[in-house]
Order: sequence, then C-alpha cells, then structure tokens
Amino acid sequence: MTKNKTNLEDIVSLAKRRGFIYQGSEVYGGISGFYDFGPFGVSLKRNITNLWWRMFVDGRDDVFGIDAAIIMNPKVWKASGHVDTFTDPLVECNNCNSRFRADKIDISKCPNCSKLGTFGKAKMFNMMFKTNVGPIDSEDSIAYLRPETAQGIFTNYKNIVDTIYPDMPFGVAQIGKAFRNEISPRDFIFRVRELEQMEIEYFVHPDDWEKSFEKWRADIYEWFRALGLDEARIHELDVPESDRAHYSKRTIDFEYDFPIGKEELMGLAYRTDFDLLNIQKATGKSMEYIQKGSNNKFVPHVIEPSFGVERVMMAVLAEAYTEDEINGEKRIFLKLPTELAPVKFCVSPLLKNKPELVKKAREIYTILQKKYHNVMWDDNGNIGKRYRRQDEIGTPKCVVIDFDTLTDGTVTVRDRDTTKQKRLAVKDL
Ligand code: ATP
Repeated sequence: MTKNKTNLEDIVSLAKRRGFIYQGSEVYGGISGFYDFGPFGVSLKRNITNLWWRMFVDGRDDVFGIDAAIIMNPKVWKASGHVDTFTDPLVECNNCNSRFRADKIDISKCPNCSKLGTFGKAKMFNMMFKTNVGPIDSEDSIAYLRPETAQGIFTNYKNIVDTIYPDMPFGVAQIGKAFRNEISPRDFIFRVRELEQMEIEYFVHPDDWEKSFEKWRADIYEWFRALGLDEARIHELDVPESDRAHYSKRTIDFEYDFPIGKEELMGLAYRTDFDLLNIQKATGKSMEYIQKGSNNKFVPHVIEPSFGVERVMMAVLAEAYTEDEINGEKRIFLKLPTELAPVKFCVSPLLKNKPELVKKAREIYTILQKKYHNVMWDDNGNIGKRYRRQDEIGTPKCVVIDFDTLTDGTVTVRDRDTTKQKRLAVKDL
C-alpha cells in the first residue's frame, strides 16, 4: 500500500480555512453526514463533474446524458429491490445506546464505551430516506429520496431508445444527488448522507458483457490519470459473490489509499438484465431492443461504472496536498491539475494604495477573466500572504502588476509548484 502522506485533519482544516468545505448547518451545531461547499469547493466540484461529463458524455458518441427527477414513483424502489434489500445491519450498545453498522466494527466490544458484550442481534436497517408526496401524510403517499441515480436511467431507457434510436452498445449517463441514511457517517466527506453520483448504465448485447466490462475497466484509468491520482495508490478488488450487491454478477471496487486507509473510491458492476427485467415485470412494458437491420430482439445487459463525487474530491485533495519548505519556512500547497484548480490565475497589484497599479491590474484581470473565467482578484495583505493563500487554494499562477508593468508592459508570473517567478509580456500570458 502506498500510504497517503496526507493526514485527514490537515485536509479538513485546509478545506475549512480556505472556503472549500464546511460542516452542514454549522451555526446550528451541524448535522451529521451533511456538508456544504464554499466558493472554492463548489468550483472544484464543478470542475470534476464537468471533466467527467466531457470525458464520458460529450467526448463520445455512444453515451447520452439525462437529468431525471430525484423523487420517483415509489414502485421503482419496490421493483429494484431497494425497499426489501437496501439495508445495513444495525447494532445498538445496551450500555451507552450508541449505534453502529455491525459489518464495520468488532461487535464483541463497543467502540464508544468499550464495554464488552453489549450488542444484541443486528437489525436490518433500510437506508432510504422517506418522505410524503402531496398534502396527505399516509402510507399511500410515501416516496423516497433516490439512494442511487441509476434507477433514473433505467426508467428512461425506453425513452432514449424510442427518441434517439441509438446503436447497441450505448450508454446513458447522469450526474446528480443521491441520499442514503447511513448508520454511521464518518471520515469527513467519505461517507455522507447526501452525496452526488456520476453514473453510466452501458447497455450491451448479453454475449458482449465481458468485452464491455474490460473496456470500461481501462477507460476508468484514463479518468484517474486526468484527476492526477497516483496509480500506485489505486487497487482493484474483485468483490466476492457474498459481498456483491443483490443485482450484480461481477463487481470491481476501485480502492484508493485515502488518508483513512484503503477504501472504495468507485465501482464497476455487471448488473446483468436485472433492472430492465424488473421494470418489464412490474409495468408489463417490453424492454427489448430490436437490433437494427434484423428482427433480433433481446433485453440488454448492463455494465455500470459508478463514481461518487465526494470521494473523488477527497482523493483529489489528499493527492494534491503538499508540504515543502521555502527559505526555512513550511509551506502548504495544493498541487491540483490545472483543469481542476478552482482558480486558474490570481491577479494583484503589487501595492493596493497606488491607483495607477490598481487600474493596470484591473485591465489585465479583465483580459484574463474573459479568456479563462476562473480568475481571482486578490489585493488583501502583502504579496507573501497572497501567495500563501493562493498556494492553499491550488492556484497554478499568480500575476503581479508593478511599476515596470506601466513602462514595459511585462508582469511577474509566479508558479505555484516551483515558486519561481518569471517576467512575461501580458500578451504572452
Ligand atoms: P460502501 O460499500 O462504501 O457503502 P457502496 O458499495 O454501497 O459503498 P455503491 O452503491 O456502489 O457504494 O455506490 C457507488 C459509489 O457512490 C461509491 O463507489 C462511492 O463513490 C459513492 N458512495 C456511495 N455511498 C456513499 C456515501 N455514503 N458517501 C459518499 N459516497 C458514497
């Protein structure tokens, strides 16, 4: 295992200090398993989801995007098996009343009060959040917040086939919120109750599932590379049958050496025809695909790469977090790939109280802003402080406007990773 050099506390503290991630409802004392994203966090998250969409949807001609509603007909979750089996084993300590997931702890001893033998038999706890739709609070009005985005894709499979006429194989992709009432949310944004997923259901001829599975397995590494993750920290776990989800005939968990240890980053599952057959059974509508130019009909099988945005963010932050020493002083910076960096350029006048410098700096800021969009204006504190702040945000280049700029049109460009400074003409930025 390539142990991650980063401590979780360092990431949590930087994320808070620099406006990436805050505890949800913090002023009210927080709420366990929910987080809010600040200005740079939302930007990093968007850069991640945009990169994913570009790579897997816009960058291919065999994957189509959708955006389905979060609340769906509750029949969906009955047919999918979630009402009956989307459960985790819950145990409660009869000494301190703390609750735990039985499969995640040693149940001979309570992790909270350390008392031995206080747990009774595990109860199966359904993780779906329930709500009521409409003004009447009754059994008939119960609906669920979706625990995965996948079902929004399966329910639209027929719509896509009938309106887009895709060739087989083809995929349908979605990015969106999912909700899981986790028994013990933990480890910052690693296990949360409100999460965002990026999922693709890739529909294939039943004979071709292995070929597609292997192709996706390779494509996933391209994604890891784009995120800047060190491949030595990624491990594949071929999940044994006893641990696989109820719908899966083969699953590979891609684990990453997080600061909390080796844990699941994302999954690739062969879901067979489980979901489409369930829909067919529950609705009486055919989910068959008619092979173009023939009378060949079949219910497609499905390969599902499933990505969790929060876990990607946590891996990216852990990978990027770097400490070094500059002139005997400790420095922290985020070595983010430029594509993911929330701010691409920071522009500042050397001195805040010189109107001619501020005016020139504003002009340059506007030029860069039009071109690169994520450009930040920063004139707080002295230059050293600004560099330190931008290093922690992960800004690749800081541009400083000084008196020479006014005479020769050049600016200082300082590089985040090397801290080296260069003078460049504005037009060459
Ligand atoms: P775990 O075993 O860690 O609970 P899972 O196997 O139930 O995860 P899946 O149902 O396969 O997870 O969900 C697909 C992806 O969604 C996961 O690989 C992960 O990236 C993300 N994910 C699932 N549950 C959570 C959660 N509670 N918090 C953050 N991300 C999650």
